[in-house]
Amino acid sequence: MVRQPPSIDAETLTKQLEALGIPIIKHANPWNNLFKGKQASALPEPLVIAAPVDEHQVSSAVKVALQHGLRVGVKTGGHHYGCCWSETSSLLLDVGALKHLHLDGTTARIGPGVTAAILYDALDGTGLHFPGPHLSSVACGGFIAGGGNGFGTPLFGAGDWAMEDHAYNSKARSLTLCSHNKYTACDCLICVRIVDGRTGDILTVTLETHPDLWFAMRGAGGFFGVIVEFTIALFQVPANLPSSLAVFAISGSNPPPGGPAAGPTAIVTALEAWARRMPTLPAAIECNAVLCGGGPALDPCLVIASNAFAEANADMTAALVECKDMVPGHAPMVWDPEAVPYRKAMQAIDPTYEFPGVCCYGGVLCFSPAVLTSDVLRVVVDAYMHRTSRRSVVLFAPGFPKTDAPCAAGYRVGCVIIGTYAMWSRTDAGGLADGDQEHIAWADALIAKVCVLRGATYSWLLWVVHIFVPLSLLPSAEAAGRVSVC
Ligand SMILES: Cc1cc2nc3c(=O)[nH]c(=O)nc-3n(C[C@H](O)[C@H](O)[C@H](O)COP(=O)(O)OP(=O)(O)OC[C@H]3O[C@@H](n4cnc5c(N)ncnc54)[C@H](O)[C@@H]3O)c2cc1C
Repeated sequence: MVRQPPSIDAETLTKQLEALGIPIIKHANPWNNLFKGKQASALPEPLVIAAPVDEHQVSSAVKVALQHGLRVGVKTGGHHYGCCWSETSSLLLDVGALKHLHLDGTTARIGPGVTAAILYDALDGTGLHFPGPHLSSVACGGFIAGGGNGFGTPLFGAGDWAMEDHAYNSKARSLTLCSHNKYTACDCLICVRIVDGRTGDILTVTLETHPDLWFAMRGAGGFFGVIVEFTIALFQVPANLPSSLAVFAISGSNPPPGGPAAGPTAIVTALEAWARRMPTLPAAIECNAVLCGGGPALDPCLVIASNAFAEANADMTAALVECKDMVPGHAPMVWDPEAVPYRKAMQAIDPTYEFPGVCCYGGVLCFSPAVLTSDVLRVVVDAYMHRTSRRSVVLFAPGFPKTDAPCAAGYRVGCVIIGTYAMWSRTDAGGLADGDQEHIAWADALIAKVCVLRGATYSWLLWVVHIFVPLSLLPSAEAAGRVSVC
């Protein structure tokens, strides 16, 4: 379809929005520095970027856009790796300033701009938890709208809780219920306030009031309107989370204190063991295996890290201890089983992603754990050993358990996730000198090799909007008609 050019120029649009008191900003400021600096990959340029400060300003801005036939992009934290919110000749609404947070017993009302750091700070000491983003700077806006896979998903992950049966009842929610019934971030929603992309009106969306929008908000929020507030459910967790961390050297110039480095073959065996064990772990344990750089020289390591979101019991403690023995014949160079204070546990992943000039390119593949055989894992480990940047990471994580729940997060297929992230720094020298093309080619090649070896059940590359919205799954034609937001 050929899109009509907008019937308004940037200057006039800016004046109209400013007359409504809506702040205008110059730069979208994406998290991914791949899009910043000399010879960087270019982002499509919106016509105007506005930064409304409350839901009324969001509503007014959408109404102005509708009046002029403008498409609207929505950005909150800007962490989408491919910056899918940026579109040529659109009005981009940056709603990162909507950061209010009100705790109310075992629920909370939060603005989309509330980051994981803000949320976990507020929950620290309350004994309550929301399965929010793994990284402190990710905002809840895009995370929940996209069906986020966060801290505690194996326990609070996808499933068939009463909410799916149209009967959310906050009194019924208890730790006992949680342990039998699972959530993703989008399953933990009680209601969502949105500015409707079709009319600009502010709606309070629940299953009962707007079943089609409710379906869409849980995994495909960004396509249907601008989310201005979530009401989320919170879950009881211990003040200190039972945890374990095992770090194995794969190779390196300095022999690790635990003995000689394990070498790629033992690491393949360990990852096979992880894939076999992971689906049978106690539900409260979230166990990730990560190929990443460790120590000051970022030498290649395998990190097996687990957090448990319930009080320790004998099964759980035994499962956490298993991390130490996953690499046959090799002791970990770091072995740290401990109960980690809630706030500290929620910061564990930050150092991997927070370094100056962070650039990221890659993609995520979802598999049944059964297909992670030694031939597939050998390809991944070998490719990792030939990575183009010492900061690059390959993540093996539990995905959502299988669900038939009606929601737009289309990848909930009972899977493990392999995330291939080429990561490197943007320097003043620019994209050519920083090796952008080499890093991108490395990630593409690894993903392609694994796809050829074993068909992924679902994959998304970072250039592609990773929120998967099969329109055929939407419950009504009316809902499909709402796709007015880019
Ligand atoms: C370092 C890093 C770590 C990450 N870790 C995790 C993780 O552990 N688990 C996980 O699931 N994801 C993770 N992500 C992915 C992240 O959750 C998504 O990119 C998410 O969309 C980011 O939220 P955001 O508000 O920053 O999104 P943005 O980049 O601002 O937006 C992303 C998408 O959401 C839409 N959107 C954003 N805000 C709104 C809104 N208010 N209303 C409607 N639509 C909106 C946008 O239009 C766009 O389509 C990570 C990303 C990074 C960069």
